[in-house]
Amino acid sequence: MDLKSNEPFWLVKNGLRASYPSLHSNAECDILVVGGGITGSLIAHQCIRDGYKTMLIDKREICNGSSSATTSMLQYEIDTPLYKLIEMVGEKGAVASYEACYRAIDQLGEIATKIKSEAGFSKKYSLYFAAFKKDVDWLQKEFETRKEAGFEVKWLDEQEILKKYNIHGAYGGILSTQGGSVDAFCLAHELLQYNHKKGLMIYDKTELVHVDYKRRFNLCTTATGAVIKAKRIVYCVGYESTNMIKEKFVDLLSSYAIISEVDETLYRQYKDVLIWNTAKPYLYMRTSDDGRFLIDGEDEEFRNPVKRDALIGKKEQKLIKAFKKLFPDKTFYSDFAWAGTFGETKDGLPYIGEHPDFKNSYFVCGFGGNGITFSVTGMEMVSDWLKGKKHLMTPYFAFGR
Ligand SMILES: Cc1cc2nc3c(=O)[nH]c(=O)nc-3n(C[C@H](O)[C@H](O)[C@H](O)COP(=O)(O)OP(=O)(O)OC[C@H]3O[C@@H](n4cnc5c(N)ncnc54)[C@H](O)[C@@H]3O)c2cc1C
Repeated sequence: MDLKSNEPFWLVKNGLRASYPSLHSNAECDILVVGGGITGSLIAHQCIRDGYKTMLIDKREICNGSSSATTSMLQYEIDTPLYKLIEMVGEKGAVASYEACYRAIDQLGEIATKIKSEAGFSKKYSLYFAAFKKDVDWLQKEFETRKEAGFEVKWLDEQEILKKYNIHGAYGGILSTQGGSVDAFCLAHELLQYNHKKGLMIYDKTELVHVDYKRRFNLCTTATGAVIKAKRIVYCVGYESTNMIKEKFVDLLSSYAIISEVDETLYRQYKDVLIWNTAKPYLYMRTSDDGRFLIDGEDEEFRNPVKRDALIGKKEQKLIKAFKKLFPDKTFYSDFAWAGTFGETKDGLPYIGEHPDFKNSYFVCGFGGNGITFSVTGMEMVSDWLKGKKHLMTPYFAFGR
């Protein structure tokens, strides 16, 4: 599956940070992590921390899937508003999902500190604003619901948003104290390098092509001709899980991103806040730690990579126009534009758990605008399951829910 256009910013910025060999001889491990994006890197980090003999393989170069194209906003706010999620899955599951993402931001910060990351992890406020007057009522309802659930939120009206953030046409919004951003590509590489030194076996350009699921272990054949005997597999294969699982569980679409030249003025004003809105598809914005302004949005409801990439120039112009509308006194000097496949689930929640067709295995599929924070929660879940423990989020993130 073609997951992204050429030259997403993070790939250009970081280059080929590390390259690992492909696997050509048979091997054995406790845990085989399939996929070396941000999810696989986090899961492998947890498995090494828990003391398992762990191997990670990726069919591409490390982190050349969605994790190189992401905008890496770290939000506790799920694509489905809390009040709607309560209607869909009940109060307990909905609030627990928001709380899990809330905690995940701090957990990621702790990991970044622990491994002495230079991936620019930083905590930020998050402003979720009404793009249309008609959205104000439900957004206020969302504000009340979040407040009642104990999240630290403040309502800002149109004038307050204009004064504080100089955003035009924001008809009111929720300001949250919890949010963050990072360079996920860089962080994934750092995590793998850190754990490689602690014994994590890493092979890229090594595709898993066949698995014999036995009673107590799996025999995993790679395209390079090796067989890996693994007690457990953790599939962290991102959107390519849709090629493995027969039932449909996620809608794949195309998303577009642009990043400005280094711009001191924009950076200084917006470095502490994530900004997103209620438009459909929504627009979301953040700064990068090297002083740029990043915008994502303009999603299209198809995945076709040729069609997707042909639209990049047009989408770049549309995103710049949207910026101009919100910030009429500022100029956006675009430096890079790219596109990526993006996934939306029916409730905005991820799919993390076992699947009946894959014995001795777990999937960690952190989809949507919270893909990264969900993957952090996935670490905790996989860790508990491997120890035979239960996890609160199991039923809410399960296949077939
Ligand atoms: C434009 C865009 C914006 C986004 N914005 C945000 C955001 O702001 N915040 C957020 O949290 N999330 C965001 N996301 C989502 C987020 O990027 C993803 O959830 C995350 O990158 C998924 O990481 P992953 O490691 O699961 O998948 P990937 O990075 O795709 O990694 C999966 C890996 O599995 C490998 N693989 C697949 N099959 C096999 C096989 N058979 N054998 C070996 N290896 C295999 C692939 O080569 C790939 O490297 C965005 C995504 C896009 C595209």
